[in-house]
Amino acid sequence: MDFDEKRLNLAKRLKDELNLSEKVYNAIKKVPRHLFVPERYRAEAYVDTPLPIGYGQTISAPHMVAIMCELLDLKEGEKVLEIGTGCGYHAAVTAEIVGKSGMVVSIERIPELAEMARKNLSSLGYDNVIVVVGDGSLGYAELAPYDKIYVTASAPDIPQPLIEQLKRGGRIVIPIGDTYQVLYVVEKNEEIRKWSWGAVRFVLLYGKYGFRDLEK
Ligand code: SAM
Repeated sequence: MDFDEKRLNLAKRLKDELNLSEKVYNAIKKVPRHLFVPERYRAEAYVDTPLPIGYGQTISAPHMVAIMCELLDLKEGEKVLEIGTGCGYHAAVTAEIVGKSGMVVSIERIPELAEMARKNLSSLGYDNVIVVVGDGSLGYAELAPYDKIYVTASAPDIPQPLIEQLKRGGRIVIPIGDTYQVLYVVEKNEEIRKWSWGAVRFVLLYGKYGFRDLEK
């Protein structure tokens, strides 16, 4: 079975199991995940599981990427902030959904991963994604405000800068916790409303509003 066929099968299975919207289904069906993983893991690229991408980090499982896109209720033309670029796969899926009239700003703290993501994204023509090296727990004020924000590493709490950089009516999707983690949806209107989706497993978010980085 070739990669295209495997990807189509995975997308169809996720669509049935998760009742995916057409736009999220189409994005998962289109983005070539095998080109975002290290060569030795390519054969497993369409198994619904996280895979190592180096530097102790992972590419998220396709079902988690799809669920986060649905929870954010992404729309064409939106400006979205991603914290934790990794290899750029999730950013590419988001970029497919927001389209050329939209934009994804993605922050990664490990420069080598940011560079890998930039190469992956530009070789596939994703010119509506900007990858920035930095501490994403601070958000990215330079291009704020954002319609939607999502975090792909688990935080101790919702970083205040992310709430400040979110537009009114916008949403944040973020995992919270260390050993026990829960995925939250946060909605900003006159008040901040948050609700939990369920238990998840992510690598940890480091930085000022993240967990303490033991390397520093
Ligand atoms: N979005 C990725 C994908 O496409 O599958 C998955 C990313 S991985 C699960 C989480 C990423 O968050 C790692 O690359 C890690 O280096 C990054 N990270 C952790 N703390 C961060 C911070 N404070 N700022 C930016 N990136 C951070």
